[in-house]
Amino acid sequence: MVNGNLHVDDHVGELLSGFVDGELTQQQRQLVSLHCNGCAECMEKLLELRELRERISKANLSEVGEDKWREAMDDSTVKTSRNIGWLMFIAGLLAIVGIGVFVFLFDDSISVAVKLIMIAIYGGLATLLFSVLRQRLIERKTDKYKDVEI
Ligand SMILES: [Zn+2]
Repeated sequence: MVNGNLHVDDHVGELLSGFVDGELTQQQRQLVSLHCNGCAECMEKLLELRELRERISKANLSEVGEDKWREAMDDSTVKTSRNIGWLMFIAGLLAIVGIGVFVFLFDDSISVAVKLIMIAIYGGLATLLFSVLRQRLIERKTDKYKDVEI
């Protein structure tokens, strides 16, 4: 340090982003460009910052990217509401079946044999429903994989 002011021999790292953004005073700009002409390290940083800045502004301007993002949002919203619909449907179904089974099992006017047969039929139906749902979930996962690979 020769004096209290910024010296050309000091690295200008903290001024570089201001230089790229055009926020520096005339004096500071001169200092940065003078320094970068003689310092490969700061010149490289400056070029990196400029490239980064360009990429960010391009990304912000890209309407195609924004549309795709919105599309993806809509898609996931639809999927989520569909999943909630399925959940509500299944929950309601289970509640009705549960109440039905409860009433049915404690009805003394129905013989045990009939009860067992009904349990077998509804148990079988429930198992089928469960396996179909499971298959659907597996297929959805596989679809995701396919999308990623393409
Ligand atoms: Zn430097």
